[in-house]
Amino acid sequence: MPLEPEEIERLLSGTVDTQDSRHVGVSWTTEDGIRAAVSAQLGEPMLQSAREVWQAMARRLVDAHLATERARARVVSLEKSERLQQALYEIADLSGSDRDMAEMLGRIHGVVRGLMHAENLYIVLYDADRRSVRFLYFADSSDSYEPDPEREIHEDDLPNSVTIALLKHGEAEYGPSEQVRRRLGVLRDDRHGPDSKDWLGVTMRRDGQVCGALVVQSYTDAGLYGDEERALLQFVAQHVLTAVDRRKAREQLEQRVEERTRALRQSNRDLQAEIVERQRGERLQRALFRIAELSITSETLEKFYASTHDVVGELLYARNFYIAIVDDDGETLHFPYTVDERDMRRDSRPLGPGLTEYVINHGEALLADSNQIAYLNQTGEAVLFGALPHCWLGVPLLHDGNVVGVIVVQSYSSAVTFTQRDQALLTFVAHHISIGLARKRAQDRLVAAHAELEQRVEARTHELAQANAELLEQIGERLRAEQRLTYQARHDALTGLPNRSQLLERLGMAISRARQAPDAVFAVLFLDLDRFKLVNDSAGHSAGDDLLVEAGRRIVSAMREEDVVARLGGDEFAILIESLEDRSVAERLAERVLAALSAPCWVAGREVFPSASIGIAFWTRNYRNGAGLLRDADAAMYRAKAGGRDRWAVFDEAMRDEAVRILDLEADLRRAINSDDFVAFYQPIIRLEDSKVVGHEALLRWKHERRGLLLPGEFIGLGEDSGLIEEVDWVMYRRVLWQLADEPGDSYVSINVSPRHFRSDDFADRLLRLIEKCGADPNRLRVEITEVALLDDAPRAIRMLKQLRTHGVLAQLDDFGTGYSALSYLHRFPLECLKIDRSFVAGLDSEDEGHESVAVVRAIQALAGTLGIYTVGEGIETERQAAILRDLGCERGQGYLYGRPAPAPAYRARA
Ligand code: C2E
Ligand code: MG
Ligand code: MG
Repeated sequence: MPLEPEEIERLLSGTVDTQDSRHVGVSWTTEDGIRAAVSAQLGEPMLQSAREVWQAMARRLVDAHLATERARARVVSLEKSERLQQALYEIADLSGSDRDMAEMLGRIHGVVRGLMHAENLYIVLYDADRRSVRFLYFADSSDSYEPDPEREIHEDDLPNSVTIALLKHGEAEYGPSEQVRRRLGVLRDDRHGPDSKDWLGVTMRRDGQVCGALVVQSYTDAGLYGDEERALLQFVAQHVLTAVDRRKAREQLEQRVEERTRALRQSNRDLQAEIVERQRGERLQRALFRIAELSITSETLEKFYASTHDVVGELLYARNFYIAIVDDDGETLHFPYTVDERDMRRDSRPLGPGLTEYVINHGEALLADSNQIAYLNQTGEAVLFGALPHCWLGVPLLHDGNVVGVIVVQSYSSAVTFTQRDQALLTFVAHHISIGLARKRAQDRLVAAHAELEQRVEARTHELAQANAELLEQIGERLRAEQRLTYQARHDALTGLPNRSQLLERLGMAISRARQAPDAVFAVLFLDLDRFKLVNDSAGHSAGDDLLVEAGRRIVSAMREEDVVARLGGDEFAILIESLEDRSVAERLAERVLAALSAPCWVAGREVFPSASIGIAFWTRNYRNGAGLLRDADAAMYRAKAGGRDRWAVFDEAMRDEAVRILDLEADLRRAINSDDFVAFYQPIIRLEDSKVVGHEALLRWKHERRGLLLPGEFIGLGEDSGLIEEVDWVMYRRVLWQLADEPGDSYVSINVSPRHFRSDDFADRLLRLIEKCGADPNRLRVEITEVALLDDAPRAIRMLKQLRTHGVLAQLDDFGTGYSALSYLHRFPLECLKIDRSFVAGLDSEDEGHESVAVVRAIQALAGTLGIYTVGEGIETERQAAILRDLGCERGQGYLYGRPAPAPAYRARA
């Protein structure tokens, strides 16, 4: 290990500790020993001489000294950098401290002073864009200048300024100020103070741009500043700039925070106010909602007012509160609601000069304290009723722009004074109270109207219920009547049996059923009582009726349960026999009916032996309806009658042919009408007294294309049934009237009028028109009518006959005695004469019926006598008949005896 210098020194001085292990065995007393020891100690090869020993030792000493020196320098530099670092820490600390800028810069100045000579120091900031400076810090022993750090000084205002020059120059400068000035090209200027012995200025840069300078100077000592100080100050300057920037940033931040805080505080205040306002608004809103709700829910107006008072009380002081309402008459003021500490009651009064009326008259709110009220009182503008309040607030209640009332709050305490705000609030509330009031009143009116309506409805309901009950009763009655009518419509009144329409209905159903079943057999029996007319005529209608009832009963008893027995009218019955196994069953049933009928019975005190003729028609697919079946059964019945009565006959092919013939004939008749195949034959009517012709009867003849001349008896029934007879008649009448018009003389012509004509209203009119058209003399025309025509619709027949008579056309009653006319009312018809039926005339000279016929004719003559009319005997074929008639008082006659019906020429020849 090499020896330390001290050690070597000690060795050389002989003060070495010989006990030290490293020196054990070394002899320091001999030269060789010393050389060996030193060589060993120095770690060198054996030193050969003392000189080498000295040289080695000297080298060692110099090395040791140099190392010491270097260490010392290192220590100084370390101390310096430590101080600098400390200073920079302090500067950084200061820039972050709370101190203000001036104080901070003062402190920094202190720090710089610790680093170098810096008694006089100033810091300047430069704005290159604005070309201006600000003296941020200024400390000078010979200049008490205290600059305003905020004040900007334009560089043009600082001529000959070394500082400005330095800033422009951009690089640090040092040395005596005179030299610096010269270097920077600046003239001396006394305004900038005395020259300094030494001057050091460094610039500060931000982003490479010069933005300020830091200058230290000394007026007393020279040579203070060199490169080291320049570098140091440069270093410090940059930190100062950072500190200034940071401080500035902090200040700006603080300022912003301050501003922000201020703004926040303001907005907070605004928000608070808004919340308060909103809460008030909500309260108001709630109040208004409640008023609206109350207007609907309050049972009475009084309750509405009281509740309204509660609501107002929540919004403002309303210990004294009243509502005044102007009456509908516009002259009275009512106080439907009032609550007051002083005035217990407020009576209705005619509108006067009160404060309330003041509000009504002005149509706007009044807010008045006691002084103002006193003033209004004094000027006579408004009089106070009741106690004087400390403050009075009334606002009008408006509806459709009209003041309908006032709402008032008042205070008797000086502690409570109403404000404009209260007025606005109450006005607002009043507006809603008005609406609520109107709604409430409308509601009340509605309720009243409703109640009235209900009452009316109640009354009306009652009335209706009564009317309903009556109607029901009527309906019941009608229903019963209807049922009666339906029954009547479907039943024969006399026997209670089903009538023709019901039979046809049942027949229709039977046909429908039969169409479904291919093998169905069913039949219709047509039954006509034999000689019933005789019973009727001889024993009277009532007896006839009895016989019919009995016959009906017997027929029913002979039939099976399911068979339908109907009365068709007169003495005609029909039986529907359904579900037949074969035709013989129907025939047996017919036998049974005949047997049942034949038992004798007593009618009007006389024993009668009823019998009947029955026609049977079996159903075949050719039948389209029940009427066809019935018609054929009817035809078969005629066959049975013709066969001698009290028997039955089945409708067969021959009858069908007959039926077909009739159908053909009907077709022929239609054709004949179109081709006018009819002619008029005339038969004379004479005066029995002298056989003088007084007139003629026109008789219809049909010149059939194949069958020659047909008499009325051969087709008139068909014409009646089909209704064609009317048309045929008109053809005939026209012909007769033309001929009559041509015919001179005063004898008359009579025409036969079918009863059907009397069913149409215009027969008389039409006939009169035709007479006129043909130019015939109505006084020479007679109409022959039968009793049937009179019975159908007597009033109408009378009307028509009278009309004809007025125009000269007289009426004769044809075939008299054969019908059923009630003689008692014949007098009502305007008749010229009665034509005694041929059957009576024919019987006049017969051996058997002579008496009877004479009796009948005599009766007819008697009747004619009472009616004041004459008679015509028809069908006189013998002189004897004529004589008897004449004897019986008959005035006129007609018959083959005097002339057969003949065509017109013959009639003309005789006329
Ligand atoms: P009616 O009016 O009683 O006419 C008299 C009928 O007796 C006529 O029969 C006539 O030829 C017939 N006659 C007249 N004298 C005798 C006689 O001495 N012995 C017999 N056995 N018969 C005699 P006609 O012409 O066959 O007429 C039959 C019926 O036809 C008429 O009976 C009348 O009711 C009706 N008739 C005739 N012409 C017309 C007419 O133009 N229109 C209508 N609707 N019916 C007519
Ligand atoms: Mg006649
Ligand atoms: Mg006649």
